[in-house]
Amino acid sequence: MDVTTDVLIVGAGGGGAVLGIALARKGIANLILEQASGPPQGLRGEILQPNGQAVLDNLGLLDALPPDASKPVRLFHFLRSGGERLCTIDYELLPSPFNRALVMWPNVVHHTILDCLQKENPGAVRFHAAFQSFLWKDKQIIGVQAEIDGASVQIGAHVVVGADGPFSHVRKAMGVSASVHQYKDSYLVAALDDTEGLEEGHYYVGKGTILCLFPAPGKKVYVLYMVSSDSLAALKAQGVAALRQQWTTIAPDRRRLFDSFEQWTQTAYMGTGRVRAKTWAIDRAVVIGDAAHGMNPHASQGRMQAMVDAITLADILENCQRSHDWSAKALQSFERSRRSHVTMLQRLADEEVFFWNTGNPILVRLRDRVFRTMDANRRLQYQVLSATAGLRATAPFGWLDRFQAAGFLPDPQANHVPVQHQHV
Ligand SMILES: Cc1cc2nc3c(=O)[nH]c(=O)nc-3n(C[C@H](O)[C@H](O)[C@H](O)COP(=O)(O)OP(=O)(O)OC[C@H]3O[C@@H](n4cnc5c(N)ncnc54)[C@H](O)[C@@H]3O)c2cc1C
Repeated sequence: MDVTTDVLIVGAGGGGAVLGIALARKGIANLILEQASGPPQGLRGEILQPNGQAVLDNLGLLDALPPDASKPVRLFHFLRSGGERLCTIDYELLPSPFNRALVMWPNVVHHTILDCLQKENPGAVRFHAAFQSFLWKDKQIIGVQAEIDGASVQIGAHVVVGADGPFSHVRKAMGVSASVHQYKDSYLVAALDDTEGLEEGHYYVGKGTILCLFPAPGKKVYVLYMVSSDSLAALKAQGVAALRQQWTTIAPDRRRLFDSFEQWTQTAYMGTGRVRAKTWAIDRAVVIGDAAHGMNPHASQGRMQAMVDAITLADILENCQRSHDWSAKALQSFERSRRSHVTMLQRLADEEVFFWNTGNPILVRLRDRVFRTMDANRRLQYQVLSATAGLRATAPFGWLDRFQAAGFLPDPQANHVPVQHQHV
């Protein structure tokens, strides 16, 4: 072996980097291979939900975020395309102190995590380092073959963690079958100058339309517009002015904001996928984050769940280290404690996109009815919000809730907000 370590992590993204910090703090040696040449740059919309704020706070990193890089947002309004308000969701229903969404400047959270990693575990992240295959001995994984700065390197480890995203090479090398569904619809993101002092989030839903406006730090507004990947080229061919007009039709009172959209370089489009891996662990190898359970970005929970995975797995790896047991059985306790929560979030995000983005007039009427009921029903509002915020691991609505939300049954508990959840 050229190098040896206890835990070899593939991918220094949302999950891998946090795992590196958590393991280093437990005194467990680890090395992270990252194929990119450096920390990520570029535009993307990013919301730090309450559960993610709690994770960063526990790591001592929430206060390390640059103060001007986040914008706390308490109220999110849902409106019909054209501007009629349907419902307002108030994060103040959630337990303090994490009763706000934090809209972040792109990549700032990730850079803060990488800076911490570099300080606490210098040299742990190797950029320009790609996982290639496992090294085996007596049918047992004993490390990986990697390419680092163009050179072939063998790294020995007790366990390999695939934190390498939805198209995970580690998962494939583990021989784990997975369904990887690439969404046709994803978000075109733009960061525009805030001409109107926007303090609250706005979701506009129409017939096959979702347009989101989130106040962002630095007097900016994120515009997220759901566009199918196969219509993106046609949209661009119509030109910037045509898109400005589409947005103005959906949100007529934001015309001045859209006026600051002048060129495509202000936008980014990032497709994404949903991953359902059959199992997350085999003897001496495990996958976390998007490699195990990528989900629709609509949930804004992907990074949060990757971080929770990392914290959960760090505790389990500490036990493995203590008992010298890196078997599938020992590692699968990670999957047992995490799978039901992420599966619920995957379903919730898919269901929300289905109803919010529907073009079916009957479903549109039903959806708008549900929004109007929720506007006056703090119990249902809390149930959905606590799921979106990562505070509950079970589905927000049972069948009775669904009938009540659709207005088919009365809800005697409409004003009753349940006992507040702890962060999970
Ligand atoms: C448009 C968009 C918007 C999003 N918005 C949000 C949001 O608001 N909130 C939220 O919580 N989540 C959001 N997400 C999802 C979030 O980014 C991911 O869920 C999260 O980053 C998952 O972390 P991860 O560590 O599993 O994977 P990633 O962060 O993708 O990291 C995987 C890393 O592995 C590296 N890698 C891949 N293959 C190899 C290899 N062979 N060798 C070495 N390295 C390798 C990659 O370069 C990458 O750095 C969004 C995603 C998209 C696409």
